[in-house]
Amino acid sequence: MLGTARTVIAPARLDGAERAEVRRPGAAATAPPSYWDALEPLLPRVKKPAQYVGGEHNQVVTGWGSAETRWLLCYPDTYEVGQPNQGIQILYEILNERPTALAERAYAPWTDLEALQREHGIPTFSLESHRPLWAFDVFGVTLPHELGHTNLLNLLDLGGISHRSDRRTIDDPIVVVGGHAAYNPEPLAPFIDVAVMGDGEQVAIDIDDCVRAFKRDREAGAPWGSGTQLTRHDLLVRLAAVEGCYVPAFYEARYHEDGRLRQVVPIQKGAPSLVPKRTIQDLEEWQYPRKQLVPMTETVHERFSVEIFRGCTRGCRFCQAGMITRPVRERRPETIQKLVEEGVKDTGFNEVGLLSLSSADHSAIAPIARDLADTYEGTVTSLSLPSTRVDAFNVTLSNELARNGRRTGLTFAPEAGSDRMRAVINKMVREEDLLQTAEIAFSEGWRHIKLYFMVGLPTERDEDVLAIAELGIKTYELARKHGKANKVTISVGGFVPKPHTPFQWAPQDSPEEIKRKLTMIRQTIKHHSGLKLRTNDPEEGVIEGLLARGDRRVAPAVERAWQLGARFDGWHEMPTLPTWRQAMDETDVDLAWFSYRERDEKEALPWDHLDSGLEKSWLWEDWEDARSDKQLDDCRWSACYDCGVCPGLSIEHDTGYSGGFQLPVLPSNLGGSQALPTTPERYAAGD
Ligand code: SF4
Repeated sequence: MLGTARTVIAPARLDGAERAEVRRPGAAATAPPSYWDALEPLLPRVKKPAQYVGGEHNQVVTGWGSAETRWLLCYPDTYEVGQPNQGIQILYEILNERPTALAERAYAPWTDLEALQREHGIPTFSLESHRPLWAFDVFGVTLPHELGHTNLLNLLDLGGISHRSDRRTIDDPIVVVGGHAAYNPEPLAPFIDVAVMGDGEQVAIDIDDCVRAFKRDREAGAPWGSGTQLTRHDLLVRLAAVEGCYVPAFYEARYHEDGRLRQVVPIQKGAPSLVPKRTIQDLEEWQYPRKQLVPMTETVHERFSVEIFRGCTRGCRFCQAGMITRPVRERRPETIQKLVEEGVKDTGFNEVGLLSLSSADHSAIAPIARDLADTYEGTVTSLSLPSTRVDAFNVTLSNELARNGRRTGLTFAPEAGSDRMRAVINKMVREEDLLQTAEIAFSEGWRHIKLYFMVGLPTERDEDVLAIAELGIKTYELARKHGKANKVTISVGGFVPKPHTPFQWAPQDSPEEIKRKLTMIRQTIKHHSGLKLRTNDPEEGVIEGLLARGDRRVAPAVERAWQLGARFDGWHEMPTLPTWRQAMDETDVDLAWFSYRERDEKEALPWDHLDSGLEKSWLWEDWEDARSDKQLDDCRWSACYDCGVCPGLSIEHDTGYSGGFQLPVLPSNLGGSQALPTTPERYAAGD
């Protein structure tokens, strides 16, 4: 399919009047067709057919006529990647709990099924009831990263609605995107109706209320579908007034003569000039998902997951997730224990994941880990905690969680090879800390350490790149000291600067430069055969970088790449970069200008009108600090440095639910695991 013109065979569509009847609220609606009968005979002809059948434990199927608003929630990648996504599962449960709403889910079909769908006129369908996308009121799509943009266009087109928002009618769904990549939705501006900024829980309810009120008003006016009353534009005006909702059609991008952006300004009365993000203040009030969906087939994470806190204030300058999800909001230990116990019982999963951006940083993680380890000791249930903290405490915690299993692999993320480079990115780990941590881990029986790094970081010199290899070698020598079979893997990817971070002004390295740096590392470690190197494809960051910091002028390239066949841009099996390069050529999108150029302080950025809570002036100061190797403490354990996020939120930011005791964050003061409180009781007592 790649590199060839798309063959569009339109899915079966109803005419306008019939579509209008399907979309009426409640029992007045005609139920749309289910495409199951057409789909089922095709499934033996595709890979992994189980991902299209639905029927999972905890799925919700609501009668079409019982709901006033109907949502299709979508993760724009395959079922195996998207099914475990917590964001979708949270919104699915919240919406389905509403007596007037209905929510189903959709994922991207792999190219084999897409071809058959186009051939047989089967639109993008919901997993629960195989109803078509075009019949729903809201198509809610999560964009965890930028590499699902072409899939989004494809799902819209396959779903029987135009991929361009200005061609959609009152009887088409509203296309709403959220997630981290929605913090710069400008490359998608012509294709989406609304981008939602921030936490989705409350705003989903607000959008649902807005759409329901609109449908009721419309029902109360002229006969449904007559076109004489409320319009799609009216609905968008109402949605633009919902806090956290950005309607790109109501804004105009203005440019300087030299091509730099001047401003993105509202052109519709009532559209805010600065769209604020939504922040839920207390995770305790949002205990979701309670009824986690159990996948029908293999997925990337098969476990019961509980988000133990949201946000991160460690201040890693490369990390968009950490910056945009501030401040930290913790879930209570007793709630975590309850959610896990009920969830494991309900779902039958035998693995539990305690999720967050840096799970070892929960202020009560030690008693949480102890209590869960006690509960599941001697059972088949294992506990995992995605933490890449580089310190002895992480080893202690991993020992506790591994009570039920073998001590196999530990992962640490120093991110950069030299102390100087780690100061630039504000990853406060010194080389001696890492080596000491590795020593402790191997001496306590761990067999394999994985170290994550990036190349292409701002201000990087060749000596910083070589330091990655040298650190890998030193860690490997430690590993061998404790056992001939011990292993070390260093994993290196290319850095992509992201919006709303201090590195948003930084130039991105070209793939050629990334390749040169990876070759340096490979050459340096080549005589250490037991030290494994894993690298990402240097070209992988090209599309991601363009879409992360592009403005509306990038949208034609997105559209053209999709028309030329680009799909699944993040998949190794789908090398779409040549297609994208052709699309950029045809649409005059200058990759170097968007990605490889440093911005100055005065330059307007395409996301300046979207407020992540972080002051742009603070981000600039942090960028200047980065360039002078200056580090900044985590504000949970030090003074507030006024990044802009907390004012107005009633959040006790600097104390967790452990009663005020704070875990050590700076590993440089630690003398190994014996220097840590080694018994959970000491943590619980606030020692
Ligand atoms: S406003 Fe202060 S306390 Fe809140 S996240 Fe920013 S630096 Fe931390």
